[in-house]
Amino acid sequence: MIIFTMFTTLINPKLFIMKKNKFSRINTIFCTAVSLSLLVACSNNEEVEAPLSATALEKVDLQPDLLNAQCSYVDGNWSSTAYLNTTMINTTQTNFIYAQNTKIANVFGQSAVTLKMVHDNSNPNSTYNAISYSNPKKIYFGEAIYIAALNKGQIVPAMILAHEFGHQLQYTYNLPSKPENTARPNELEADGFAGYYMKRPTGYNASWTAAGPGFEFAYAIGDYNTTSAGHHGTPPQRRSAARLGWYLGDYALSASDFDYNFFYYYDGVLSGTYRTTTPERIDPKIDAFIKSKMSELQKIRSGEISAEEFTKLKD
Ligand SMILES: [Zn+2]
Repeated sequence: MIIFTMFTTLINPKLFIMKKNKFSRINTIFCTAVSLSLLVACSNNEEVEAPLSATALEKVDLQPDLLNAQCSYVDGNWSSTAYLNTTMINTTQTNFIYAQNTKIANVFGQSAVTLKMVHDNSNPNSTYNAISYSNPKKIYFGEAIYIAALNKGQIVPAMILAHEFGHQLQYTYNLPSKPENTARPNELEADGFAGYYMKRPTGYNASWTAAGPGFEFAYAIGDYNTTSAGHHGTPPQRRSAARLGWYLGDYALSASDFDYNFFYYYDGVLSGTYRTTTPERIDPKIDAFIKSKMSELQKIRSGEISAEEFTKLKD
């Protein structure tokens, strides 16, 4: 199994050491009671998920291996007191995000994957994450990150979901085509897929005024742990990836063609290592358009365009 998450950099290792201790205590004292009450909840709504062995997970994001997996209701990537259901905050949000889940998949010619929310009443902050799983295909959206995103605007939870669905496309089509030793290309491409979805007329069809601040919250967190396996790309790299995906959203592309275009521009052109001839697979119209945006994209990636300026760019 492969998993990708959204916000590795927000996980403070010290916090997790504390949490481990806390969970250990909870396990010792309350584990049986918690499990029983959750089993009752499960039998009512059939939300039971078989616990996954921590060693069976390829922890791309180097998430802490909680020692209490045997007590875990969701799986080892979430706290022992976390549980799943299909209600997203309230009816309005549930209807919204499931409609988005279908729409995102449809834009890429796919069927929607299973989507569930992770709650944790004992330790709500532990659900500040969203995870995309490969087998079986599913996305778990943490309640805490959903609420934080929603506070920045209705568009932001949709962006996070689109990023996670980008990982689903990677699982399906064996992308990215340019793997590295870290999660960086996977994460930048997922940011790009989400940018693409936000712009597509058949997708979210957003204006940059609506999308820009959301991108900054959702994708521009980044990290500078460039040699860490869980490296998601630096903040300027994530901003430029989202903006490049946004521009590619003017053209209907398959997931594989998106990947080809994305890395052609992101790696080859944006970094200055131009090819002398544009490859045949690149549409001349797209080429002319993206090249007209190259100066801006380079400035985003170099940091010359600040976070604030990024949120105020034109459509
Ligand atoms: Zn991700």
